[in-house]
Amino acid sequence: MTESSTIEDWLHSCIRCGNCKYVFKEYEPSCPSGDFFHFESYFASGRLWIAHGIQKGDLKWDDSLLEPIFACTTCGSCEKQCLSPHREHIVDIIEELRYLAVKEFGPLPAHQKFAEYIESNHNAYGADHHACELVDLYSLPKKASVVYFIGCTSNYREKEIRDATISVLKKAEVDFTIVDEYCCGSPLLRTGQIEPVTDLADHNRSSIQNAGASTVVTSCAGCYRTLSKDYNKRGLDLCIDVIHISQFIRDLVDEGRLKFKDSPDILNITYHDPCHLGRHMDEYEAPREVMNALPVQLTEMEQNRENTWCCGAGGGCKSAYPEWSLETANKRIEHAKVTNSSTLVSTCPFCKRALSDADDDASLEIIDLIELVDRLT
Ligand code: SF4
Ligand code: SF4
Repeated sequence: MTESSTIEDWLHSCIRCGNCKYVFKEYEPSCPSGDFFHFESYFASGRLWIAHGIQKGDLKWDDSLLEPIFACTTCGSCEKQCLSPHREHIVDIIEELRYLAVKEFGPLPAHQKFAEYIESNHNAYGADHHACELVDLYSLPKKASVVYFIGCTSNYREKEIRDATISVLKKAEVDFTIVDEYCCGSPLLRTGQIEPVTDLADHNRSSIQNAGASTVVTSCAGCYRTLSKDYNKRGLDLCIDVIHISQFIRDLVDEGRLKFKDSPDILNITYHDPCHLGRHMDEYEAPREVMNALPVQLTEMEQNRENTWCCGAGGGCKSAYPEWSLETANKRIEHAKVTNSSTLVSTCPFCKRALSDADDDASLEIIDLIELVDRLT
């Protein structure tokens, strides 16, 4: 928890200028929540003033506050457009508001099931838990210098991302294994359900330590943020290097450990920056360096890097506000189609899932970067 005097300072530094509503200089909408719901309370500025009212005691808790507090993908776009000193803390403040809202009202029904599934099955989908049987399935060693942390979405839904990651790591002869991992806790942290995350972090730390690893690689942008930034912020540090697969692949390419096939047909691709890799972790270039090494033609969408339009799935919004989430993803699909690319690449299984759900006519191939790397090596 943050000192209340610090939060007070952050809240006072919002001058209600409205910059967080638009991509700076372009006047394109930048906040998917405000763009859909239109009311001031659905933009960052409004949420900060709700926080201010709650903090001062001028605003009493009421369930009409729940939608403005939870219908935010925590995409961080507002943080990149705002020029005031509190800019880096806007999402932290919104997440703090969610924590307080859960204390008042309990979790939203759509979010409560995350906690229930994670408690019973150790993953956010309630699927049968994979423990160590995957080690045998993929003929991996019990101990290794690198642990591949798969994450719930790649492990139980977008399994081709898991399989492609394992395939590429094997091709590069990386000394790696997988462990009995539990959900990293991201779905809980993003939806105000903080308490269970300590046990999840403790379990994951001990599984990784038992494998004797010095590095954790994750193919999920959400896991990457949680295992590094969130665990660290909450004193739950894994005490080990955590890197995203795009950074790991970039290094393997630089070391000459991955060779790409010649392709007679150059694929035209465009790239969607996941919020949790780009804006939340400032990693925009590693995926692009990998794509630039591949036999593909990359055409950027106009809204790229820190100005990327969110896929609509984050912050628990795909489950709690499916209609708005889908509309947000639809808009991103339209951005991709403007580039005339045949393939939309991302680096997060959750983005892949949200964007695939929105591509009604399946006119775009939507894949993860690691699948593209596996195909071309
Ligand atoms: S959050 Fe930042 S950009 Fe938005 S209104 Fe406040 S000061 Fe302006
Ligand atoms: S995090 Fe994203 S959705 Fe939430 S207020 Fe900021 S720009 Fe809007």
